[in-house]
Formats: sequence, C-alpha cells, structure tokens
Amino acid sequence: MTAAFKAFVLQSTDPVKTGVEEWSTDQLDGDVLIKVSYSSVNYKDGIVGRTGNISEFTPLIPGIDLAGVVVESNDQQFKEGDEVIVTSYRLGTGHHGGFSEYAKVPAEWVVPKPDGLSLKEAMVLGTAGFTAALSVEQLEKNGLNPKQGPVLVAGASGGVGSLAVNMLANLGYDVAASTGKKNEEDYLKKLGAKEVLDRDDLVDHENKSTRSSKWAGAVDPVGGKTTQYILSTLSYGASVATSGLAGGVDVSTQVFPFIGRGINWLGIDSVRCPMDIRKNIWNRLATDLKPTCLEDEVVIEVKLEELDQVFKDILEGKVRGRTIVKMG
Ligand code: NDP
Repeated sequence: MTAAFKAFVLQSTDPVKTGVEEWSTDQLDGDVLIKVSYSSVNYKDGIVGRTGNISEFTPLIPGIDLAGVVVESNDQQFKEGDEVIVTSYRLGTGHHGGFSEYAKVPAEWVVPKPDGLSLKEAMVLGTAGFTAALSVEQLEKNGLNPKQGPVLVAGASGGVGSLAVNMLANLGYDVAASTGKKNEEDYLKKLGAKEVLDRDDLVDHENKSTRSSKWAGAVDPVGGKTTQYILSTLSYGASVATSGLAGGVDVSTQVFPFIGRGINWLGIDSVRCPMDIRKNIWNRLATDLKPTCLEDEVVIEVKLEELDQVFKDILEGKVRGRTIVKMG
C-alpha cells in the first residue's frame, strides 16, 4: 500500500534545518511497514536533531525508538495487526526512524511487543528503559543483590536514571540517586530513592583512584568525572554499569581499584545488543523489571511539532524523566 504521512525531518546538517513534512510510504525502505503509535525522545535524538552529528544522510527522519502496528510485511515472522517495538541499530541515524506516522524497517530489527506492556508504555520505556534494564541485569549477573548495600544511580532525573531508580527500588535495593537538579528530591524519592545526592559533591574534589568504599553497585549514564568518582568508591567486588556520556567522555583512573578491590567496569550497549538478549530484556521490562512509575509524572507527551524544543532541553540536561511522542 501507499499512504501519505507526516514526519519530523532533519532537512540539512550545515546549517541544521528541521521541519515537519508530508512524505509518502514509497519513500521508505525495509521489510516491515509499521503504523507508528508512539515514539520517544532520547539524548541521542537531541544530538541528531540539534547538531546533525551521527546522522548518516539528509533528509533523515530521526527517532531511535518506535512502537506501532504492522501494516504490511515481506517477512513471514510478522503479519498485519502485530504490535511491535523497534529501537537501536541504525534507526533514526542511518535509517528513517520513529518521529513519523509510518516507518519501514528490516525485519531483524523488530521485537514483538510482549504482553504486559501497552504500545505507550513501551515508549515510556524506549531505549532509556531498555538501557536501564540491561544495566540492572548486567550488575546482577556480576553478583549484585539487595543485601550487599546501597546502589548509586547517577543522572537520576534523566530517562535512563529515573527508570533505573524505580526498577532497583522495586527489586528491593537501597537506591542513592545523584542529580544536578536540586528541586527534584521529591520526584526521586517518589520513584523509590532512599537518599538524594548533589551531583556536584560527586565530582568537585581532587581526583583519587580510591577513596572510602560506599557503593555495592552503580548505574552510570553520565560518564566523565562522575564515572571517576564511582570507580573510586565502589566496594570490594562491586560493579558499575556505564552507558552514557551526558557528563563527559574522559575518565581518569588508575589500576588500584581494579587490582585492590576487584571492581568491575561494565560497558552497556543497547545499539548492537544481540536479539536474544534484546527480547529477554523486553520480556523483563514487561514483568519483573516493569517500572511502577509509567503513568505518573515521569512522562511528558508531545507532538512532532514540539520536538525542536525537547531536543534543546535534553542537550541542556533540563528534561525530567521521559518524553514520548504521540502520532496522529
Ligand atoms: P537524559 O538527558 O534523559 O538524562 C541524562 C541525565 O544526565 C540528565 O537528566 C542529568 O541528570 C545528567 N546530566 C546531564 N548533563 C550532565 C552533566 N554535564 N554532568 C553530569 N550529569 C549530567 O538522557 P538519557 O537518559 O536518554 O541518556 C543518558 C545517557 O546515556 C546519554 O549520554 C545517552 O547517550 C546514553 N545512552 C546510551 C545508551 C547505550 O546504548 N549505551 C542507550 C541510551 C542512552 P541529573 O540532572 O539528574 O544529574
């Protein structure tokens, strides 16, 4: 079938120009045509939409997440009416993405929506929720359990951070949430944080590779000096799951916490995560890791026309929780 639809388009990168345009499904490539119900905004979308960096061509429809209903499929795994989720790979960077009423994608990128999540809930989670869940799973695989002591979540008011706070608290962990937003203490406590720390206290001190042991584990979507602090304060045998760079890319450390405390620095990648692990994480997101905060103040719903402002806010660290985009 051929249909006309509305999409948010990165029209050029030098200078960066964006706009909402009408396209035709004939302009899209892929095995599975999806009518998109919801997308969501992640930090990476802010980079694509605001700077043009990491976009592989223009015009490009950005949006690294989408959830919707299959309209047509050339692949037998999917049929009309199936509810599906697509995130990661080159979606929204090297292939037209989710800020669009329709999307066409390779069949190998498509995850059947698990029972226990609505399409909207799937996008409240999106790549941020997936990354938070993958971080929690990797920490647990490396020995973390609630009896070992407090777990630190950095960048706690952001997408990955907010969802990680809630998931860990629901699993019975004592969560310490670090934030740069002094007015978000009540919000973070509502999500389940026992303690709220000022982000500046984590980074404004002399760089030492070890200091007093404090944390049984840490979720780190921030990077930079925050990661430095975490590596220096993990308890014996503890792990940090690093997924992001919102606070910087350079990390200065020494071998001492690794060889003296046996700590583990775990890298978290959602983009090329293998499909068997991906499906398992989405099933956990619909069951034991399903946050209990999906319908309250974590979520802001916007339209395609409002995306430019959201990109600006997310790159300036001003966004709280998750922003979803409703189509139609
Ligand atoms: P958000 O913008 O929603 O959250 C990031 C949070 O980091 C902010 O809310 C803020 O929290 C904190 N922060 C922002 N700027 C700074 C700063 N200069 N110094 C310290 N902290 C800062 O983004 P997402 O949750 O969508 O993504 C978080 C990071 O994880 C990004 O870097 C993103 O690229 C990365 N990511 C990586 C993935 C992977 O596969 N590896 C997948 C998903 C995300 P607060 O004010 O509470 O401190």
